[in-house]
Amino acid sequence: MESNHIWVIFSPIFISPYYYTHPPFHHKKLWKLKIPLKIKNFLLFLQKGVILTKDNLARRNCKGNQKCICCNMNEAIQHLFIDCPLTKTIWGIIFFATNLTQPRSINHMFGTWLRNQNKRMRSLIWVGVAAICWAIWLCRNDVIFNELKTNSIMQVICRGAFWLRF
Ligand SMILES: [Zn+2]
Repeated sequence: MESNHIWVIFSPIFISPYYYTHPPFHHKKLWKLKIPLKIKNFLLFLQKGVILTKDNLARRNCKGNQKCICCNMNEAIQHLFIDCPLTKTIWGIIFFATNLTQPRSINHMFGTWLRNQNKRMRSLIWVGVAAICWAIWLCRNDVIFNELKTNSIMQVICRGAFWLRF
């Protein structure tokens, strides 16, 4: 008991206020989700902020249009998966149906967002979140690389539902 106490006092976690707002993401949970491997990898990249959105491409000296495919804002991970009006509407429909609150940011999503849910519920929600994020990414890529028209909200949701079959 006493040794645990000492460990807590001297632990870097104990002295870091950042820990409370951004607890470390445990990748083990991600690997246990019943989703295809490529979507697990995608979630890992999303959490690490290394998905090749236009802002990340610009940092790698790839010149080009920085605009989001749906609105006039610049495309960034936070924008594409959280803040874009299209994304907000998609999340709004899903969270209205599930009575969940929307995550404020990618950090919040992977951090404290579901801490009040039990383990089983968290896994179920994460499968749904993975499917929707993956669908948003695929629809965005279709518009950019396959020159399809901007996808509607229902197309994104249907595409996400397709992945939920796994
Ligand atoms: Zn947008």
